[in-house]
Amino acid sequence: MSYQDDYLRDLLDGKGMLSMHAVLKDKEERQAVKADPKPVQKKFWWGKPPVHCQLCGSKLTTAFIDGRTQFGPWAIMCPICHRTSGCGFGTDCGQKYILPSMRKTQG
Ligand SMILES: [Zn+2]
Repeated sequence: MSYQDDYLRDLLDGKGMLSMHAVLKDKEERQAVKADPKPVQKKFWWGKPPVHCQLCGSKLTTAFIDGRTQFGPWAIMCPICHRTSGCGFGTDCGQKYILPSMRKTQG
């Protein structure tokens, strides 16, 4: 008899639901420990500062938005394009960075 069979028999013999519950709880806790920690929220734009808006081509001077467009794909947008073609702010919508510090101010 393997370890696993012993283990299962132990669960079924007399201990009933309470034991099963304990096992499930234990499994959940193990998974919680194994799960990756939450990603650290990005406070600054990493990498080279973008120069132009990918939608209208105008030079980015005070701020830019890394966000999803209403057409689907993501783009680096100027604030005006973001207002007309962006999907707003938030994890799945867009993040606003100010220039030249490239600090995130929204999203
Ligand atoms: Zn633009």
